[in-house]
Amino acid sequence: MTIDLASLYIDLHRNPELSFQETRTAGIAAAHLRDLGLDVHEGIGRTGVVGVLSNGEGPVVWVRADMDGLPVTEQTGLAYASTATGTDDAGEKVGIMHACGHDMHVTAMIGAVERLVADREQWKGTLVVLIQPAEEVGGGARAMLDDELLTRFPRPDIVLGQHVGPFPAGTVGMRPGPQMSASDGLKVTMHGRGGHGSRPDSTIDPIVMAAATVMRLQTVVSRETDALTPAVVTVGSFHAGTKNNIIPADATLQLSLRYPDESVRAKVLAGVERIVRAEAAASGAEREPDVEVLHTLPATINDAEATARTLDAFRGVFGEQAIMDPGLLTGSEDVSWFARDAGVPLVFWFWGGADPETFRRAFEAGTLETDIPTNHSPFFAPVIDPTIEVGVTALVTAAREFLA
Ligand code: ZN
Ligand code: ZN
Repeated sequence: MTIDLASLYIDLHRNPELSFQETRTAGIAAAHLRDLGLDVHEGIGRTGVVGVLSNGEGPVVWVRADMDGLPVTEQTGLAYASTATGTDDAGEKVGIMHACGHDMHVTAMIGAVERLVADREQWKGTLVVLIQPAEEVGGGARAMLDDELLTRFPRPDIVLGQHVGPFPAGTVGMRPGPQMSASDGLKVTMHGRGGHGSRPDSTIDPIVMAAATVMRLQTVVSRETDALTPAVVTVGSFHAGTKNNIIPADATLQLSLRYPDESVRAKVLAGVERIVRAEAAASGAEREPDVEVLHTLPATINDAEATARTLDAFRGVFGEQAIMDPGLLTGSEDVSWFARDAGVPLVFWFWGGADPETFRRAFEAGTLETDIPTNHSPFFAPVIDPTIEVGVTALVTAAREFLA
């Protein structure tokens, strides 16, 4: 009996779960993998699932799908739209939606494993299936690895993954080398000395200190990094004070730093830290500022040779017209940790979920940005057909390329 993948997708779409709360999704994925004959382990990195399919001597291929939804209230109007709500880490009640298509990733993975099991006479090796939690908070891959993933399960020779995106359904593609950006989130607390707003001379004003810091931070990219190497320094949050006539004791900034080319990361981080400390010193601060790392994600770098092999295999299966270039993306992913910790190549590709006809019309009208919802939009709605089928075929094709 074959698995009804469209029904599986609709069920997952209707029932999204927030990062590290994906118990229902994990249970469904684990049950399918067990039915298919895999050796299944649950609760890896809190809610992650690992399935092992040993099929003789040969390479070990890790295939990864992430499974978490987002705190977004769905507005697609689909018959199977999510009405789920939940509680986020801050204790707020939020709508939940599979606005990044991770439901499609899990569905395609189950379909691919089913096909690889059916064709097991035609290949040799070990397939390790990772159903990963909490990609959206940048913590799931790390959590699985910290749960001894590399010692408890067969070590990989290669790590494969895929992401659905706002490209025409039927297309697949990726770039060799840098594909997605490395990113750091920082929280900077600058300390002054509070007092009466009428007596600034008796205080050390952290608002002036932090304001000068925000302005000066913009010189990291414009004056310090190579003009041909992209980097982003964004101050997305600035909090200080409660009232017009009180000079507060401190000010807090939150920064988002992005670098598609990881070689500039150290330079940007050093520049940010130097400026923060120097502006505090310039204001006469009596305490050093605190710099806290909120999260760190590596650049997603596709191994050049393995990527070329995979793209050739995709060309053979889908045809040249189906191959697209997703571009170098400023978004970030945590899939790389698996390949980095294991010291093996990564191949991570994108496949299209947008209705091809709608996409074509929007492209011709120059309205892609308004008419084709992107990942994380409350309107993000991959078409079921042919997206599931292409996702399954892409995973099977890539896995078979690296299995014996
Ligand atoms: Zn996402
Ligand atoms: Zn995603």
